[in-house]
Amino acid sequence: MTVASSLLDTDIDDVDIYESATAVKELGVGINILPHAVREMTELGLLDALYGVGIPTAEHVFYSSSTPSSCQLIDA
Ligand SMILES: Cc1cc2nc3c(=O)[nH]c(=O)nc-3n(C[C@H](O)[C@H](O)[C@H](O)COP(=O)(O)OP(=O)(O)OC[C@H]3O[C@@H](n4cnc5c(N)ncnc54)[C@H](O)[C@@H]3O)c2cc1C
Repeated sequence: MTVASSLLDTDIDDVDIYESATAVKELGVGINILPHAVREMTELGLLDALYGVGIPTAEHVFYSSSTPSSCQLIDA
């Protein structure tokens, strides 16, 4: 659906979408939307809607099993 929506913003407007699921259902899970996905949603004009339902990332912390006492904190 995202690809089709993006193609409609180009000269490619002959797009067929096939979907076997008959309904959109909640899974009850959280989704981490990574920066490249946020970029695509922004280009589709969905950033405000995303802010309306999402919680902006406050920080990224990477843990390593080989060095359990160390971690790297990256400000979002
Ligand atoms: C438990 C879990 C947690 C995840 N958490 C994250 C996360 O937090 N962040 C993240 O970025 N990614 C996450 N992912 C990965 C993410 O879900 C996938 O990378 C992403 O959904 C792939 O998108 P897609 O469009 O390629 O495929 P899908 O989302 O799988 O879409 C494929 C669609 O094609 C339909 N389909 C299949 N066969 C046919 C057919 N023959 N005819 C018609 N329609 C058909 C299916 O019904 C489906 O809707 C998670 C995955 C899992 C399993």
